[in-house]
Order: sequence, then C-alpha cells, then structure tokens
Amino acid sequence: MARLIFLGPPGAGKGTQAQVLAQHFGIPHISTGDILRSAVAQQTELGRKAQSYMDQGELVPDQLIIDLVRERLQEDDVTPGWILDGFPRTVAQAAFLDELLKEIHQSYDYVVNFDVPDDILIVRLLNRGRKDDTEEVVKNRLEVYRKQTAPLINFYQERNQLVSVDGDRSVEDVTTHLGQLIKA
Ligand code: AMP
Repeated sequence: MARLIFLGPPGAGKGTQAQVLAQHFGIPHISTGDILRSAVAQQTELGRKAQSYMDQGELVPDQLIIDLVRERLQEDDVTPGWILDGFPRTVAQAAFLDELLKEIHQSYDYVVNFDVPDDILIVRLLNRGRKDDTEEVVKNRLEVYRKQTAPLINFYQERNQLVSVDGDRSVEDVTTHLGQLIKA
C-alpha cells in the first residue's frame, strides 16, 4: 500500500518516476496532465474547457481539476494506493485534497518534492517536444510553477509531510533514492 503525492516543477521527472513506481507497487499513476490531454484529444467538455489554458502553460481552473480528482480517487482501482502526479498544484487544490481524503477515509504516506535547477528543467522541457513545450510556453509554465505551485513546498513542510529528492540525476538513481525513502 502506498499513497504518494509527487510535487515539483515541470520537467523534474515526476511522471517518469511515477510510472516506474506505480508499476512496481501495482497502483495507478494518476497524472492530471495526462487525464486533461486525453480529454483534449477526445474533445470532451472538460477538454474543450481546459485546452486554451494548457496551450498557454497556465493552470486549468481549480474547480475543473477538483471535480476530476474527486471522481478519479473514488474509482475501484485506487484501493491498493495511488501516485498523484501534477496534483495538487495550488494551495486551494491541496486544501481540497485534505478535505476529500478525510471524506473518503484515505490518507497519503509521503509528499515527495523533486528538486531540479531551472537551467536543467528548460533543457529537458525543450527536448521533450510536447505541444506545450515551446520556449515561450515553457518559460510561462516555470513562472506559473513558482508563483502558484512552489508555495506548496512550505504548505507540506510546515506539516512535516515533505521529503525531497535530488531530481538532477539519472532516472535509475532517482528511482533508487525514492525506493529507499519510501521503505524507510
Ligand atoms: P503536466 O502534464 O502535469 O505538466 O500538465 C500539463 C498542463 O495541464 C499544465 O500546464 C496545466 O495547464 C494543466 N494541469 C495539469 N494538472 C493541473 C492541476 N493540478 N491544476 C491546474 N492545471 C493542471
């Protein structure tokens, strides 16, 4: 059983590590970015509402994300645990998550902060070549991260719920470190 929240800037390797660990633990990797991209591809109502924000590197309004996470965390496959990747991204989302988890009688084990210097993030994001990874959008996403998401580091630190990993290492090294943290 593991319930983990992955926090960190875009390009920090949250998604890559979440995929590896989710497979290892046999739990779902819940990426709000992936869910939104799939909604955009399928042109659902959620996708239509989210697309312009995503294209500009802005955050999608909290309420859309909150509704999505409320549904996702009550599906059958989450019983053995989950990894949240890219959520919460604002203090309001984190407060909502606390409330939701109380309501559905779940709690998380760790909030993992992935630490990577900005210059490395920019190189990684520009090399990734996703639609929202153009230089202008990448810069905006990092700024949005700093303003809206980075305050969550304090939010969780003050509650003694944060562990940090140095994400500026090979995928294998980060996975090993994460494995040690989670076992400890
Ligand atoms: P990601 O794949 O996590 O980098 O997310 C891609 C884009 O989806 C972000 O730039 C946002 O526009 C949107 N997004 C994903 N997760 C969230 C969230 N928790 N809150 C608001 N917007 C989000």
